[in-house]
Amino acid sequence: MRFGIISDIHGNLLALESVLEQLDAAGIDRLICLGDVVGYGPDPIECLDLVFDRDALMVIGNHEEAMLRPEIAKSFREVAREAIEWTSRRINAMRPDLVERIQQLPGMIYLESDLMLVHDSPIPGGRRYLVDETSAAPAFRGVDTSICLVGHTHLPGCFRRVGGDPSAVVESHVGSPGISLELDLDARFILNPGSVGQPRDGDPRAAYAVLDLDARRISWRRAGYDIPAAQARTLASGLPARAAERLALGA
Ligand code: ZN
Repeated sequence: MRFGIISDIHGNLLALESVLEQLDAAGIDRLICLGDVVGYGPDPIECLDLVFDRDALMVIGNHEEAMLRPEIAKSFREVAREAIEWTSRRINAMRPDLVERIQQLPGMIYLESDLMLVHDSPIPGGRRYLVDETSAAPAFRGVDTSICLVGHTHLPGCFRRVGGDPSAVVESHVGSPGISLELDLDARFILNPGSVGQPRDGDPRAAYAVLDLDARRISWRRAGYDIPAAQARTLASGLPARAAERLALGA
């Protein structure tokens, strides 16, 4: 089974289309989406439609949760909060059916093939930003499959744990484009494909990954897209300028 893994699209339709085009060319059996399809970008409705139309296995992200529960939006930083309030108004007015779809999204999905999916951390209410070995190590307590897929940090990469507590060693790998990693059966893995629509690792191209479960191998990939056009769409929508500016930086 070959999975295309996408996350953190954040309303960036041009980036999503470019990634899906590459995934179609590569050939996958199923699309996995790790949440945050909305927020920051100008095309949340189109992005949700594309992901739902492709019958992606999808977990809810914190930006979708913020649409449903305004108290979460209030805890966001200014740009994220303004953008999610814009998104929420737009979707509620134009496509209330999508709000219902979002309400039905699970927080976690287990697949029979020893894979679990979650947006931020496998420990509910745990340390949510898995950015280094220190933050990832305790999260492995919530990983009861061989592979756990997460998004949220917008940083493509991998944490690998060998052995059980308390002697566990956790090492990290950056998911650079073109890098592929064998997922040996002796270890457990937390894998992050990076962000399609708001990359924050210094590479402005859309990030995603392909996971081949039979070969037990993941490869991180990038897709270029028309960034000035995406920026123009963001600004024309009245979204915060910062959401557009950072697209060119990948930061
Ligand atoms: Zn995100």
